[in-house]
Amino acid sequence: MVSAWTCAKTPLFVGAWYNTSLFLPPSPLWAKENLTVMRTRFAPSPTGYLHIGGARTALYSWLYARKHGGRFVLRIEDTDRERSTEASVNAILEGMTWLGLEYDEGPFYQTHRFDRYKEVIQQLLDKGLAYHCYCSREELDAMREEAMAKKEKPRYNGRCRMRTDVPEGVEPVIRFKNPTEGAVVINDLIKGKVVIQNSELDDLIIARSDGTPTYNLTVVVDDWDMEVSHVIRGDDHLNNTPRQINLLRALGVEPPVYAHAPMILGDDGKRLSKRHGAVSVMQYREDGILPEALLNYLVRLGWSHGDQEVFSIDEMIELFDIKDVNAAASMFNREKLLWLNQQYIINAKPDYIAHHLGIHLGKLGIDPAEGPDILAVVKAQQERAQTLVEMAEISRFIYQDFDEYDEKAAKKHLRPVAREPLEKMREALSALTDWTAETLHQTVETVSEALELKMGKVAQPLRVAVVGRAASPGIDVTLQLIGKDACLRRIDKALALIEKRAASTG
Ligand code: GLU
Repeated sequence: MVSAWTCAKTPLFVGAWYNTSLFLPPSPLWAKENLTVMRTRFAPSPTGYLHIGGARTALYSWLYARKHGGRFVLRIEDTDRERSTEASVNAILEGMTWLGLEYDEGPFYQTHRFDRYKEVIQQLLDKGLAYHCYCSREELDAMREEAMAKKEKPRYNGRCRMRTDVPEGVEPVIRFKNPTEGAVVINDLIKGKVVIQNSELDDLIIARSDGTPTYNLTVVVDDWDMEVSHVIRGDDHLNNTPRQINLLRALGVEPPVYAHAPMILGDDGKRLSKRHGAVSVMQYREDGILPEALLNYLVRLGWSHGDQEVFSIDEMIELFDIKDVNAAASMFNREKLLWLNQQYIINAKPDYIAHHLGIHLGKLGIDPAEGPDILAVVKAQQERAQTLVEMAEISRFIYQDFDEYDEKAAKKHLRPVAREPLEKMREALSALTDWTAETLHQTVETVSEALELKMGKVAQPLRVAVVGRAASPGIDVTLQLIGKDACLRRIDKALALIEKRAASTG
């Protein structure tokens, strides 16, 4: 048996050492069937941003390569020149970098490889495994109608296979002579055994009339040249696989192992799309999701390990196995992603969160350098937010005065009974020289005792006065983070409001 890697054309980017490597990865399947390093690839078409489905496919391929000491290849499938854009390429690269899915080889661009595709097409023609097809659109339409009338699947009937004449003025396409007998068996690592009869397939166009190669041809040549041993991709490509296997076999190449991951559905059971909210990976960054949390969420989407929910990257590499991926489609659940994100925020090192929080504060027009130590802000808020956007929003009061109070909180806490506690707190705070959480705690306690009130009766009006809302970290930390001047200013404003309300109701 000739394997894909030993008979590869060894193009420039494939170092010769891959073929001579003595490395035996730990997977029994791999060790049994192959002698060289395993290779997976991610092959996005740059026709938009990196979406959630693509990111999951990339993650599975990356994890599988990492698990087996293999190589992860990035290939940009940009042959559709009308729909491919440089902006999309950049968006995909940016998304992968943000997620930390570093590739070992690439990015390779299919548009740089047209000569190679031409060479392989010629090879197939020379061997009599492909042929020129001169059938016109009308002829093809008629063929389709005839098949439909017979209630058969519309397919090309091979008319030009035997053709010997060369019609004038027609630029032919090139078709691959698909085997007419037998079946293709795919031992898919996720879907199991899939059998497709060759009678179901027709002669695939491998080059258009302008000579450009088609998708299935380019994928086959690339997977061959790039010595891809495991193709992990979405199951929307499953119908291409038998065609690709036939092409590879015609070229004398043993096909790679395939694993087709099921679709991701929205919460309404329909295929995930923009309608369901963010599908672009970078939108999750905008929304304040940590990349680790998104990776964790994606790995769990259709895969599980007991009832464990939180996986470090190392655990994912160790425990993930493509064979354990669920064959059925999985449903995207934003609540769960938010929950996971919160776990990551809670457990992350404060300086890591500080970096991300700084970015999100900046988006609110806040310069964190103009406030207290941002690490202190993180420590105060780390358990209080599901996303970094939320953390930035609930930290706004630390940096900026506010115009509006939360209506319910103000109604409940900024009433005439709060006037005295607030006045006494203002007095005590303005006299305070040492502005620390401890001294502030002490001050609230002393004022409460003097007024014979429970601490909450003092702390809650005070909180609404300085934060604008009824929720914030502990009152001592809250006051400390805001700082003395702003606290006094805001208490004055709250007292004025109480005054105004008393006047209007009295
Ligand atoms: N370029 C294809 C896509 O973005 C993937 C092809 C493949 O993985 O074989 O859907």
